[in-house]
Amino acid sequence: MNIILLGPPGAGKGTQAARLVAERGMVQLSTGDMLRAARTSGTEMGQKVAAIMDAGQLVTDEIVIGLIAEQLEKGSEGGFIFDGFPRTLPQADALAALLADKGQTLDAVIQLEVDDETLVQRIVNRAKEAAAAGQPVRADDNEDSVKIRLMEYYKKTAPLIGYYYAGGNLTAVDGLAEIDTVHDAIAAVLDA
Ligand code: AMP
Repeated sequence: MNIILLGPPGAGKGTQAARLVAERGMVQLSTGDMLRAARTSGTEMGQKVAAIMDAGQLVTDEIVIGLIAEQLEKGSEGGFIFDGFPRTLPQADALAALLADKGQTLDAVIQLEVDDETLVQRIVNRAKEAAAAGQPVRADDNEDSVKIRLMEYYKKTAPLIGYYYAGGNLTAVDGLAEIDTVHDAIAAVLDA
């Protein structure tokens, strides 16, 4: 089973993906994590995307589609959770083509709904908690970058809601609920 977790930054995609990985043996494909790993290991691509990411803007479709294509080659018995991908219509089209190439389908798109004020608050808190715990703070987890990330989301990613709704496999879940409640709502969709 292959699913997309769709939602703005701070909606809880990563948190929910981790639960599904632990419980269902699915593989999480987070393009954000892959890009951060490329930066840490200092690849040419990682260096190229660093400033764009820190500013809260989207990196090119070509780069993230390449990253996803590479991971899909490895396969996953439990299926894939796409987390933070696709974020644009060309990325959505590319994902459909990549899955079709492998004879696979996209089984569900879960849209996590959270209001803007809560998103900004969650991300600012995430940065504070990381700093307090002596962990590295994401350079894009500050109020200025978050506002740009939200604008990018509304401009480029939100159109995917209509795209997948039209395709008939979109389910909206209230992302403001407790983590367990959100998890149960997602599990119910996957088990339906
Ligand atoms: P995330 O960890 O999903 O919040 O992503 C962090 C940053 O990585 C984003 O703000 C973008 O700069 C970049 N990024 C992650 N996924 C994508 C994507 N699918 N398309 C374009 N840029 C992305």
